[in-house]
Order: sequence, then structure tokens, then C-alpha cells
Amino acid sequence: MDELTEAQAQALHAALLALKEQLEQQLQQAESAAKPVQLDQTLLGRVSRMDAMQQQSVALSTKGHANVTLKKVLAALNAHAKGEYGYCRRCDEPIGFGRLQAQPESSLCLKCQSQIDDQ
Ligand SMILES: [Zn+2]
Repeated sequence: MDELTEAQAQALHAALLALKEQLEQQLQQAESAAKPVQLDQTLLGRVSRMDAMQQQSVALSTKGHANVTLKKVLAALNAHAKGEYGYCRRCDEPIGFGRLQAQPESSLCLKCQSQIDDQ
């Protein structure tokens, strides 16, 4: 894989910042949706309560996923600041612009990622 050009690194940095903002918004929304279900049983039937609980569990899983991705994005931004962004943290080879474009938070090259996935 080729190393990133300056322009590519800048484009990916912008993508990381946008992703960070998007995830933070998602987390805020999930935060309010994941509040404990408190419904007045006299006003709402059993079905509505089930609906609310379903929504709550979806919100919780969204939140978990967004949290994990946000951590990766922050780590990538940190690596960017140190000039280490774009290199595989397992084998130190450049990760490649194509892969980073699709997943700017990647910290592993495709080869190492697939080896980890196989385990
Ligand atoms: Zn690697």
C-alpha cells in the first residue's frame, strides 16, 4: 500500500471530524431515548409499553455501537495529531487510502484485520 499524500491525509482528517460530530449527535439522541421506561399504565395500554421498551433496547444498542466507533475515531484523531495516522498498529504498514476512505477510523490494514476476524 502507498503512504497517504498530504491532501489525502487532510481529506481523511475532515472525514474523521465529521464522523465524530455525527456520532456525538447519535449518542445524545440515544441518551434521551434510552431513559428508563416510565409510562402511566392508566393512559397507555400494554402494547404501547412494549413499543417503548423495544425502542429503548434499540437505542441502547445504537448507543453501544456509536460509543465503540467514537472511541476509534478519537484514537484516529489522536494518531493524526502525532503524525502516525494511516499506519497499521499491528504491522506498521500503510493502511491505504481506499480502506481509510471507506472507514477513516480503521487502525489496522486489511490483511491484519482479516487475520483478527479469522481468529
Ligand atoms: Zn497490518
